[in-house]
Amino acid sequence: MGKGKEIIVVGGGLAGLVSAYLLAKNGHSVRLIEKKTYPFHRVCGEYLSNEVVDFLEREGLLPQNVTIPKIDRFEFSDTKGRIVQTPLDLGGIGISRFLLDDFLFQRAIEAGAELLCGKQVHQVHFIQESDRFQVVLEDGKILESDYVIGAFGKRSRIDSFLARAFTQKRSPFIGVKYHIQINRPTDVVALHNFTNGYCGINAVEENRFNLCYLGRREDLRKHGSIPELEREVLWKNPVLREIFQEAEFLFEKPEVINEISFEEKSPIENHILMVGDAAGLITPLNGNGMAMAIRGAYILADIVENNTERNTIEELYQKQWNLHFKNRLLFGRWIQKLFGAEISSAFARNLLKNSHWLSQQIIRNTHGSPF
Ligand SMILES: Cc1cc2nc3c(=O)[nH]c(=O)nc-3n(C[C@H](O)[C@H](O)[C@H](O)COP(=O)(O)OP(=O)(O)OC[C@H]3O[C@@H](n4cnc5c(N)ncnc54)[C@H](O)[C@@H]3O)c2cc1C
Repeated sequence: MGKGKEIIVVGGGLAGLVSAYLLAKNGHSVRLIEKKTYPFHRVCGEYLSNEVVDFLEREGLLPQNVTIPKIDRFEFSDTKGRIVQTPLDLGGIGISRFLLDDFLFQRAIEAGAELLCGKQVHQVHFIQESDRFQVVLEDGKILESDYVIGAFGKRSRIDSFLARAFTQKRSPFIGVKYHIQINRPTDVVALHNFTNGYCGINAVEENRFNLCYLGRREDLRKHGSIPELEREVLWKNPVLREIFQEAEFLFEKPEVINEISFEEKSPIENHILMVGDAAGLITPLNGNGMAMAIRGAYILADIVENNTERNTIEELYQKQWNLHFKNRLLFGRWIQKLFGAEISSAFARNLLKNSHWLSQQIIRNTHGSPF
């Protein structure tokens, strides 16, 4: 254990791993608890905005031994398959979470963090009298710390334990992800609409493409299985039909998740400092959740490093979080309304086709600047 504050990070996605890396590097005693073991696949489009790429390169947080595709064009099709392309001013890269998270896991250990994998946190208590936390693991073991960072993603049993408001509502969405091989340009991120959803495709490392879509639980129920949902709903967009028919699918079965809630959350609950999706999930069409998780970790680590009082840390974090993320989340929710329906997706396509300025404004309002 190093000097400084004792910190437990719950969850080892991008937000948790980057927090653990930065805080351990600064000499704090960091323990990260992740319920799975690395490496593993996650449902994610794996398009990473350039907002955070300079930072990751500066910190040596991007693997060097693979070719990572650079992406600077955007392709969009409406539900009828009518396509429009536009340049992406900011752009990004395509990198699988299988590779990136595992690399960050190694870097966090090298920086001095202790990583406890294959262990699930069941409860987090803030003890007023001692001004410390007690973190209860699934086997009943209790760990203590000065601070807890909640980096447990979109939805965790800790959300229910804390009775966070969004857990009261069921989310109507499902997310499905594959890696595929297909002959397509590697500098394009595409979003293809279908009724009640949209599907993103972009290159990642090793000549693979990520194909990931957000659909509706009720459509899955109606059609009975993922392949039937794809044939009956996604394939109505001829662009998607062609991609599904042409691609070689590399997973035995897709990664699937549900309970994807875009409801408002609070970045601090019961003194737990929430970061990444645990603080708020941006609609995936923006391709910005990964960058927000990484930037959130950067902002939080800086505040924890430079302040000693809990109250000040919480106040500053709330303020900075609002400044960087609140409007992006609102805007993201609003734009999602233009997706997944015939008329609105055709309207969005016309907007992209006829007003480069307006489409760049939309992208600017859902993305941050590099730092
Ligand atoms: C369909 C879809 C497509 C997307 N596409 C993109 C995209 O192309 N680009 C982009 O930038 N963003 C995208 N996103 C968003 C992006 O995936 C997330 O914003 C990002 O993964 C957030 O990282 P995180 O670290 O907050 O959470 P996560 O990566 O979800 O990590 C949370 C971790 O916490 C662990 N955990 C949870 N509960 C516990 C517990 N009780 N104890 C221990 N561990 C626990 C989980 O196992 C998990 O590893 C997409 C999202 C969806 C749903």
